Amino acid sequence: MRRLTLAATATVTVIAALVAPPALAEGTVTAADADQPAALTKAPDAAQALAPVRFLLTFDDGPDSGPDGSTPVILRQLANNPIAPGIKAVFFVQTAHRRRGGSPEGQAQMRDTCAAGHLLAVHSGLPEGHVPHTRLTPEKLAYSLRSGEADIVAQCGHVAPVVRPPDWAHNDATEAVYHQLGLDMLMADANARDGKIYGWHISLRRRSHMVSELERVGRAMATHRLEPVDGVVPVIVAFHDTNDFTASHMTDYLQILVDAARENGLPLADPPFYTDTGAAEQAAVARAKAGLYARESWP
Ligand SMILES: [Zn+2]
Repeated sequence: MRRLTLAATATVTVIAALVAPPALAEGTVTAADADQPAALTKAPDAAQALAPVRFLLTFDDGPDSGPDGSTPVILRQLANNPIAPGIKAVFFVQTAHRRRGGSPEGQAQMRDTCAAGHLLAVHSGLPEGHVPHTRLTPEKLAYSLRSGEADIVAQCGHVAPVVRPPDWAHNDATEAVYHQLGLDMLMADANARDGKIYGWHISLRRRSHMVSELERVGRAMATHRLEPVDGVVPVIVAFHDTNDFTASHMTDYLQILVDAARENGLPLADPPFYTDTGAAEQAAVARAKAGLYARESWP
């Protein structure tokens, strides 16, 4: 039943898109507007009340600096693309690993990233880098997070109060440490499947994968697992800025996300991606505090 409703909404959205070009749209475009007449004759339906979605992009494992680095390639596309220029994202960085933020080049990249209006938050603050938090003692984990935050503040003057656990590995003990330090854990609703466990260069069937990821988002919205923040539902999407395939295809991914939302009948906010740093941070913190996602397991 819900599937049929979503498909019908998708048709309405497509028609609405044909009638009113996105460039002319003001504020948010919602399926609820298009469904207004139907609402008078049908029982209220969750799909009709869906708030528009706005994608909050997150990137793990970087920075990947240098002339061939993936992070600057991604930053250029977030800033300049035909879908939503000036996108602001959250980068969960490894601040102390010598190939990431633990070198002068890595520190310069962290400065460049936040200077471009993006948010930095901790993934790892240890020289060892990508160690699952569940393998650390509470004391070592607290040290890693504090040290990572200090490293980010040293470059950026600000650190976002959220944390993304390496390999998504977490438990009650790690979450207790996060909360002691005033941090909230931010997982993701949709995953680009570009992490190292899937291979660095292979991302087969990206489009159909994202359509099914966002179908799950639609179900979570209909059952109110995902609630609006400031009138839009922030949809958290996870990428890796250490993946050069992701970096060279970032603009494709932006288009795929927008297309996949439309295919699932999800109304898109205008703009469909966060472009305001403060709003992005507010959304990240709100979603982290709520602790509910379209996914129930990760990656
Ligand atoms: Zn990671």
